[in-house]
Order: sequence, then structure tokens, then C-alpha cells
Amino acid sequence: MIAELTIDRDVLRGNVARLAGLVAPARYAAVVKANAYGHGLIETARALEGRVAGFCVYRVDEAATLRAAGVGEPLLVLGPVEPSELGTALQCKAALTLWNASFARTLGRFARARGSRYPVHVKIDTGVTRLGLEPADAAAAIVAILDDGGLLLRGTFTHLGAAEELESAYTLEQLVRFEAALAPVDATLAAAGVLRHAAASAAAMLYPRARLDLVRAGIATYGIWPSPQTRAAASATLDLVPALTWTTKLVLTRDVEAGRSVGYGCTFTAARPSRIGVLPIGYAEGLPRALSGSDGVALLHGRRVPFIGRICMNMSFLDVTDVPSANTGSAVTLIGRDGNDALAADDLAAAAGTIGYELVARLPPDIPRRYVGSPPGPAP
Ligand SMILES: *Cc1c(COP(=O)(O)O)cnc(C)c1O
Repeated sequence: MIAELTIDRDVLRGNVARLAGLVAPARYAAVVKANAYGHGLIETARALEGRVAGFCVYRVDEAATLRAAGVGEPLLVLGPVEPSELGTALQCKAALTLWNASFARTLGRFARARGSRYPVHVKIDTGVTRLGLEPADAAAAIVAILDDGGLLLRGTFTHLGAAEELESAYTLEQLVRFEAALAPVDATLAAAGVLRHAAASAAAMLYPRARLDLVRAGIATYGIWPSPQTRAAASATLDLVPALTWTTKLVLTRDVEAGRSVGYGCTFTAARPSRIGVLPIGYAEGLPRALSGSDGVALLHGRRVPFIGRICMNMSFLDVTDVPSANTGSAVTLIGRDGNDALAADDLAAAAGTIGYELVARLPPDIPRRYVGSPPGPAP
């Protein structure tokens, strides 16, 4: 095995329990798009079954995968639905996101023709300028959806664009726009038990007013902070623990003389007699190529060792000169704890000029994932 991801189910559950406790009475939906942020879609959802109010995915096929794995929780598809997926979506009883009145009518007709109904959540764009109805159009669209026998309105939501920042006026403005858009139909929505939601992880931590009926927490579920600011502001009241460890091993070590260059482009030249460790993974395995020439490090026998040279497609290099015990087969930790030191996804991401979100979302699905912690089952 050239590299391995280890995911601790109990750590996932602990993160959920603590953030859920913080946001209660708002409910907690775990966002498991992008292969559960690289943690494994099915295994992550199964580990959290019975402990969350539902799961958010991006695509219909992810919802179908969860249903085929026996996941019975409410599901919400956040992204677009292809006409060819309408049947699957209906079958797997996943709620769909609506941001277009004519698509709502299409869905309604499709379901009515089959004597069924789509659960739906209406998305309102309050300022991300991505998906969502204009606030001014929302109330009329909601009334039409409530009147459509092929649709079952379960929720209305918006997404916040600047909630990783502290005291962001923009976030408060977005919440005000959301509330104003729904004001004409408030009583109807309340009577129908329609959930209102706005907060992803950052807003769930930092903006109590955004918690509403439900939070959609992705990154925090996995124990990764949405941003350094959220960490600074919330880590006193919320403990997040990374659930994922990424390890590999030195496939060989070799001693090189001063002046020897290492890797493509000769971007690294040994300034001293050096010991180079070769790793059997590169950018095809999810190690960002942007780590080339960065101050990125890995852990080896509890010590930090720098990446050197360029990250190749399937290989990469560490300078292990200062760890004399390093040898072929030595374990290397890219994310996780080794001895007294630990590297977070954000540390590796920062060295590569990106964020923890991107790093874990791009971990290839075919790296072996090992799950530890108590097996899936009902919450205690
Ligand atoms: C991805 C996503 C989330 C989760 O965001 P995190 O910052 O990972 O918690 C919530 N809502 C929507 C609409 C999303 O696309």
C-alpha cells in the first residue's frame, strides 16, 4: 500500500456532537458532497446515521449511492439535476434544490404523472450570486410550490458568502434579505413546518442568528476549521478534531553529494551532503503540485522534514538528512499526528497556497481508506 487514509468514525461523531450541541435547538445536517470532503461518502454517512438530521450531497447520483448503501436519513441534493435523473431522484426520495420557477413546474408535472411528490427546498440568492431565486421572486415561487401536488416543500434556504469573517456586515445583510424575502409567507411556512436554513460551518459557529432551524455543516464535521479567523474566534468554545490521517512511506532513501540536483527542472540542488527520501505519491494521489518549492513539510519519526524539488505525478521528495533513522519503509505522515507533532490539512494546504477544503476534496477516491472507531450503528 503506497498511501493510506485513516478516518476515525468516533472523531467524526465527536465533532458532530459538539457542534450540534453548540447550535441546538437548530438541527444539524452533515454535508457529504465531494466524497464527504475526501473522507468517503458511504462510510462517513453510515458513521453518522442516527446522529444527524440528514445529509446534503451535491448530485443525484450521490443520493442514489447513499440509498443503495441503506442510508435512510433525509437527503438534500444541493446542485443541479439533469432531466435524465428525474426518475432516480424521485425513487431515492432525495429532496431537490429549486432555484427556478419553471424547473419547479417541470418537477411537479413529472411527479404528478407518477402519483408521487418531490420533497424540495427553495434556494434564495441573498448575495453569493450563484444559485437561488431573487429575493423579490421568492414568495410567489413558494406559493406556487405549495400549490403543486407534485411537490412537497420541506425547506427554504440561502447560502452565505462571507461568514468566515468576523462581524461581517455582509453576512448580517444576507440574513436580513433572507428574512425579508420570506416575510410575506412566514405564517404559511411555519404552519407547514418548512425548515429555514442559512448557515454552513462558519456561520454555525460565528453567527448564532444564522442557525435558524438547521445548519448545513461540511468542513467542521471533519474537524477542519473553515478559516483561521473562525478558528481564532471559536476554538475557545468549540473543539474540532481532524478525523482524517494521511500517511505514506519512504519508498527509498539515497545519499547524494553536495551539488546534486533532485527531480524535474533541477529546482533543488543539495547544498550539503544530503539524504533524500523518495515518496511513492505525487499530484495524481492528491499531493498538490503547488507544494513544489514551498515550505511544505511532512512528519517523519516525529520530526518535520521539508518537501524538496518538484512534486511529480506519482512521486515526490523529502530532505531527510536531519533524521538519521529514516530509511526505506519509514512511515511518513502528511496529515495527522506523529509523536508529539501533528500536521493539519490546513498546514499542507497553506504551503500549497490553497485551503483545507480543496486539499481534502481532491484526495482521490481510490486511495485506500481505513475506518477506525466504533462501527456504524445507532447513537448511544
Ligand atoms: C458545501 C456547502 C455547505 C457546507 O459548507 P462548509 O463550509 O463545508 O460547512 C453548506 N451549504 C451549501 C449550499 C454548500 O454548497
